[in-house]
Amino acid sequence: MAETRPPIPDPIKRAVRQRCGFGCVVCGDFPYEYHHMTPYAEDPQHLEENITLLCTRHHTEATGAVPMLPDKMVREANDDPANLHAGITAPTLLHYSSEPITIVMGNTTVKGHPGRECWALGVDGNGLLGFRFEDDRYLLSLSLFDQNNRLLLRIDDNELTHRSDAYDVERTGNSLIVRQRRGHILLHLEFTPPTQVKVVSGRLWWNGASILFNRRGMVVREPGTGSVTIMEGTFIAPCGVHVYDGDDDFGAIMRIKAKRFPYPGDGRDFDAVRASLDDLFDTGGRGAGVDSVRTDSQVRPRRPRLS
Ligand SMILES: [Zn+2]
Repeated sequence: MAETRPPIPDPIKRAVRQRCGFGCVVCGDFPYEYHHMTPYAEDPQHLEENITLLCTRHHTEATGAVPMLPDKMVREANDDPANLHAGITAPTLLHYSSEPITIVMGNTTVKGHPGRECWALGVDGNGLLGFRFEDDRYLLSLSLFDQNNRLLLRIDDNELTHRSDAYDVERTGNSLIVRQRRGHILLHLEFTPPTQVKVVSGRLWWNGASILFNRRGMVVREPGTGSVTIMEGTFIAPCGVHVYDGDDDFGAIMRIKAKRFPYPGDGRDFDAVRASLDDLFDTGGRGAGVDSVRTDSQVRPRRPRLS
C-alpha cells in the first residue's frame, strides 16, 4: 500500500475541534488525536464528519486489534462530546513547581523573586497573569477575557480550562493559540515548565482596558479615551505591568485607572466574572464518567487581590 497519506487540512482540523469541544469526545481530555471513525485505510479521505477527537488513551483503546473502546461508543460520544455537554473543557494540569519563574510578555521579561508570588499583569488591582507561591510551589494563574468581560480561558493554580464554545483553541505540544475569529489571534502562549510562561502575542482585556503584546513591544490602551502608551524594548523587571486604580505603591511600571472611565460592560466585579467558569463546575457541568474533575474549588481560598 502506498504510504502517501496527506495531512488533515487545517480548516478541517478546526471544524473537528469546534464540533468536538476541544477535547476527547469520550472524556474531554487533552492531549487528543484526530481519529477517523471509518478507518482511513477503508476510506482514504479526510472527511470532517468522519473525524473525531480522542485522547491518547481512548485512541489506543479504539484502534487496538480488538478495540477495547467499541466504534459504536466512539460514535455515540462523537454525537454528544463530553466537553460540549459540560460547557467547559476538562482541566489540564501544568507542571510548574519550585524553580524560580520567568514570565515573558512580548519582548518584556518579568523575573520573579525566589519564593515570592509574582504578578506580571494586573488591571484595577486584579491579577490577570502571574504566579502564586504556596507550599514551596509556583502556581500559574491567567484570566483571559474578551472586550465584554466574558471569561474565555482560565488557568487556576496550574489548572487550565476554557469554554468549549470558543471559536478556536489550538493546542500543539507546549503551544496554545486562542482565536476569536478566523485569522484573529487573541492569545498565543508557550509553556516551558517548570520555569517559564510566554505570551508570544495577544491582547489581554479587563474593564475596557487592553494590553497588547507582540515581539516589538507592548501597547496599553486606556478605556474610554483611546489613549495609548507604547513601550518598546526589552527590560527586566522584578514585577510587571499593573494597570490599576489603587494609590498604593505596587512597584508598578505604569498605572492606569480603568475604573475611572465609564465602562459599558455588565457591571459585575472581577471575582464574579472569574467565578463564571467555576459555576460550570459547581452545577455539575462535567459529564458523568469524568473522574478527573477537582471538586474542591469552592473551599479553596479566593484569589488574592493585588491591591
Ligand atoms: Zn479520552
